[in-house]
Amino acid sequence: MKSLWNSDEAAEFSDDPLQLRVYASRLLGREPSLVLHGGGNTSVKAVATDVFGDEIEVLYVKGSGWDLATIEAAGFAPVRMDAVRRMGELEALSDTDMVRAQRMAMLDPSAPNPSVEAIPHALIPFKYVDHTHADAVVTITNTPEGESRIRDLYGDRVLVIPYVMPGFILAKTIRELTRNVDWSQLEGMVLLHHGVFTFADDARESYERMIRLVSRAEDYLETHARIQSASATAREDLTGLARLRRAVCKVKGDPMVARLDAGNDAVSFSLDSVAVKAVQAGTLTPDHVIRTKPAPMMVGDDVEASVDRFAGSYRDYFNRYADDQSGPGTLTCLDAAPRWAVWPGHGCVSFGRSVKEAGIVADIAAHTRPAALRAGVMGGWTPVSQKDLFDIEYWELEQAKLKRVGDAPPRQGRVALVTGAASGIGKACVETLCGQGAAVVALDMNPAVTDMFPQPAVLGLVCDVTDDAALKAAVNETVRRFGGLDIVISNAGIFPPSRSIDGMDTPTWDKSMAVNLTSHQRLLTYCAPYLALGIEAAVVIIASKNVPAPGPGAAAYSVAKAGLTQLGRVAALEMARQGIRVNILHPNAVFDTAIWTDEVLASRAGQYGLSVEEYRTDNLLGVEVTSRHVAELASAMAGPLFTCTTGAQVSVDGGNERVI
Ligand code: NAD
Repeated sequence: MKSLWNSDEAAEFSDDPLQLRVYASRLLGREPSLVLHGGGNTSVKAVATDVFGDEIEVLYVKGSGWDLATIEAAGFAPVRMDAVRRMGELEALSDTDMVRAQRMAMLDPSAPNPSVEAIPHALIPFKYVDHTHADAVVTITNTPEGESRIRDLYGDRVLVIPYVMPGFILAKTIRELTRNVDWSQLEGMVLLHHGVFTFADDARESYERMIRLVSRAEDYLETHARIQSASATAREDLTGLARLRRAVCKVKGDPMVARLDAGNDAVSFSLDSVAVKAVQAGTLTPDHVIRTKPAPMMVGDDVEASVDRFAGSYRDYFNRYADDQSGPGTLTCLDAAPRWAVWPGHGCVSFGRSVKEAGIVADIAAHTRPAALRAGVMGGWTPVSQKDLFDIEYWELEQAKLKRVGDAPPRQGRVALVTGAASGIGKACVETLCGQGAAVVALDMNPAVTDMFPQPAVLGLVCDVTDDAALKAAVNETVRRFGGLDIVISNAGIFPPSRSIDGMDTPTWDKSMAVNLTSHQRLLTYCAPYLALGIEAAVVIIASKNVPAPGPGAAAYSVAKAGLTQLGRVAALEMARQGIRVNILHPNAVFDTAIWTDEVLASRAGQYGLSVEEYRTDNLLGVEVTSRHVAELASAMAGPLFTCTTGAQVSVDGGNERVI
C-alpha cells in the first residue's frame, strides 16, 4: 500500500489542524482495503476558544454517519477533552449513557454524534489518531494463530488488544492495558479481529504509520497466504435469480433489489466449498454484521428452501443469544432475510433496500472473500464468535437506531422498467419512480438515455423497442442488474403525421403499428415470466385520449392505441392469476413532451383561435397537464393504492367532454 500524501496539497492546510485532519482522513477513506463505507474513525486534538474567551482543549472526532472518504470539517464532532478523559476513568458506563454524555460534552450542539470510539481517541496521548479496519491486519488476526502472527510481525512497537466490544468496554480495556505503557515506544495498536490504531503529533506521520503497518501485513499475506485467482465462467439463470430475490423479499417483508456478482472472483469463490463453509463462521470485522448479518446464505438447488433454511438458522441464532443477554423478550428480532448469498457456479448475490445498500453489501462481500481464502491458507477462518457478532448486531445503540427509522420511500426496493424514457412522460416516470425509491431501467432508442440520469439507481439502455432481440436483451439485463422485475411502464410511442384514411401510406401505418402496438406486446411477452416472480407486480400502459375520443386524420395512431388498450385488458385478464395488475392511462395534451414543440403548440392554438396559454389549459378543469402528473399516477398505479385495481382505464386530461 502506497502513501497518498501530497506535500503540496497538505501545505494548504498546514496551519489548521482540523483541515489537515480532514485531508488525511480522506486519504484513508480513498483506500477501501483500509475502511469501507463509513468504517474507521480519526481525530485531532486542538485548542478552541469558547464564547467567554476561555481556551478549551477539544477532541475533534469523526461524527457518526460520516464517511472518511468524503468527510468535511463539519463531520468532526468537537468534544471537551476533560469530559471524555473523565469518562474513560469510570468503572462502568452503559453505551447509551456514554453517547449521551459525549453529546453533552460537545461544543457545538448541532454537530453529529461523536464516534463511539471517542474515548480511546482521547486516551491516546497524541495529537492525531487514525483508526482503520485494514483488511490485511484483520485477516491475519482472523486465523487460529492470529495473535502470535501479529506479535511476530510487529514486535514491541505495536500493542495488541484482545477483542472486546467497541464502545465503553473497549475504552476501558485500552485504558487498563495502556496504564503503564511507554507511548513513545509505540507506533500503533492492533485490536484483534477489529482493526488498527496509529497515532503521532504530526498528521502525516500518523497516516504514514498506518500505511507502513498495513503494508507489512499485506507483504506478510503475500508470503504466507498467497492465493491464486482461478478462472471460472458463471452459469446464468435469471429466472432462478428472480426467484431467489422474491423468496428473500418475502422473508424480509419488504421489497429489496438483488445484485448479482458473476465476476471471476465471485464465481470461483462460490465453487470453493471449503471457503464457502468457512465464511459461515462470521464476518471480516464485527461491524460488518450490521450490513451483512452474521453469515451469507448458501443457495442450493431449491432456492426457496435455501432461503427458509437461512431464516430458520438466523432465528435460532437470535433465540440462542437474546435470552442469555438481557432476559427473554427485551430485544426485538430483526428480519431473518440474508444480505448476501453464495450461489455455487453462479456467483454471489447481495440484497439491499436500495441499489446503494446492495452495493455496500457487495463491496463488503468482495473484501470478505479474499480474506477468508487467505485465512484458509493460514489454518482457517476464525473471526469473532457468533455471540460477539450478536452483541454488535443487537447492541443497544443499534437497536435504538431501529426505533428512529422513518418511513421508507413508497417504491423502495422495487425494480421498474420504463420504455421511451429519454423524453416527456417516460423521463418523468423514471424520475418519479427513482425519486420514490425504485431501481429503474430506462429504455430509449435515443442514445442520450445512457447519460441523462445521474442517479446510481437508474440504468439507461439504448434500445429500439421494435427490435425484438434488443428488447428481450434489455429485459434480461434488468433482471441481471437488479435481480427481478416488478413494474413495467409501457410508454414508448410516436405520433405519426396526420393522414386521412383515403390518403394513408403504408409506412406511416406500419410504423405506428410497430411502435405503438406490436412493441408493447413483445415487451409484455418478454416481461411476463419475470413479473410472475415480481413483488406486487404491476404494468401501466400509456395509451391515449384518442382511444375513447379519436380524431380525424389520426387513424394510424388511434387504431394502434385502441389495439394497445385491448392488449392491456386481455393482459389484465390473463395475468391476474399471477397477481400482476395491468392498468391503462389515457393522457391528453401533455405539452412538456417532445411531440409538442413550441411551433406545433402555437399552430394548434391558432387553429382553435386560442392563445398558447389558453390552449394549454383548454380542458374542463382548466388545468395544465404535465408529464409529472402522468408519471405520478403511473407510479401510484404500481403502488398499494391500486392493489385491488386491474384492467382499469384512467384519463389524465384535465377532463374532456367527449371522453366523459
Ligand atoms: P416524447 O416524444 O417526449 O417521448 C417519447 C419517447 O419515446 C422519446 O424519447 C422517443 O425517443 C422514444 N421512442 C420513440 N420510438 C421509440 C422506439 N422505437 N424505441 C425506443 N424508444 C422510442 O413523447 P411523450 O408525449 O412523452 O410520449 C410518451 C407516450 O405518451 C407515447 O406513447 C404517447 O403516445 C403517449 N401520449 C402522449 C400525449 C401527449 O400529449 N404528450 C398524449 C397522449 C398519449
